[in-house]
Amino acid sequence: MFGFGIYLMRLVDYLQEKKYKKCNICNKTIQGKDKLEEHMLKEH
Ligand SMILES: [Zn+2]
Repeated sequence: MFGFGIYLMRLVDYLQEKKYKKCNICNKTIQGKDKLEEHMLKEH
C-alpha cells in the first residue's frame, strides 16, 4: 500500500500542476476545481 500512496501523491501533484481534475465517477476531465464541483452537482 505504501507504493500506491506514493503513486496517488504523484498523480495529485500532476493534476494540480495541469489544473485539470478528473471526475472520479464518470472519469471526465474537467479544468479547475470549481468546474469539477459544478459538474459533480449538475451531472451526479
Ligand atoms: Zn462526472
